[in-house]
Amino acid sequence: SDRLEGVAVVTGAASGIGLATALLLAERGAQVIAVDIDRQALDALASETGGCLAATLACDISDPQAPAQIADAVRSLGAPWRILVNNAGIAGAPPLVDTSDADFERFIGINVASIFRLCRTALPLMADQGGGCVVNLSSVFGLTGVGGTTIYSLTKGAVATMTTQLACEWGRDGVRINAVAPGLIDTPLTSARIREGAWTQRRMLEETPLGRAGTPNDVAEAIAFLASPRAAFISGEVLKVDGGWLSG
Ligand code: NAD
Repeated sequence: SDRLEGVAVVTGAASGIGLATALLLAERGAQVIAVDIDRQALDALASETGGCLAATLACDISDPQAPAQIADAVRSLGAPWRILVNNAGIAGAPPLVDTSDADFERFIGINVASIFRLCRTALPLMADQGGGCVVNLSSVFGLTGVGGTTIYSLTKGAVATMTTQLACEWGRDGVRINAVAPGLIDTPLTSARIREGAWTQRRMLEETPLGRAGTPNDVAEAIAFLASPRAAFISGEVLKVDGGWLSG
């Protein structure tokens, strides 16, 4: 069924896709912990949503201490950790020759290493508590050479690879691991560039068979499906949510 139970951790939950996902998972019955680096936005969210979230946690997911903090927050809810949505991420990388070593470290730290570390903490806990599922945010730019920048695309390709590999390693422990690969989604990350008619965004809009940008909720619905018992036999899948762009 669509109903969810246990604790769901959503990273980057204060904005865009993560926000829509946190609200949808909560509506479907999960005890949602909203994690984000933006404490103010989390506080606003907690008061606006009037108790629909189980908890909020302000932390930088690229901090090596973050997984322990998140695991503590789950433990204090006293219910099993069933769902992890690794959504927090950054985009807007410069082209190759303008990418500094510091940029490289930052993109790897936030988009890749944080997911690696959080899975390293979460998967054994899920396995011990009877299983669970992870949904990672990849991107169509991680699956094709068209449209992205090298550093952003390589982080999202790494997320897709981590998804298929972890699915093989953890399936027998009852943990399913999938990813979604969004196309152009209208969120605070992209809205300025969509409105400005920036080249990549304009071209993607033109090339998207469904003729529009996606909404945060379009992606949240796919994530909620993958996290639900309806997807019980789906693992290692990287599901495009791109209005047909990559097939177009
Ligand atoms: P967004 O910028 O609207 O939201 C991202 C959230 O993550 C923000 O609230 C931000 O504060 C948080 N965050 C950033 N760094 C963090 C950190 N170090 N620790 C904790 N939280 C942090 O972005 P969005 O468009 O909703 O994107 C969400 C995910 O979807 C990202 O991984 C992005 O790469 C991916 N994605 C987005 C699109 C798109 O078109 N919007 C397309 C493909 C993939």
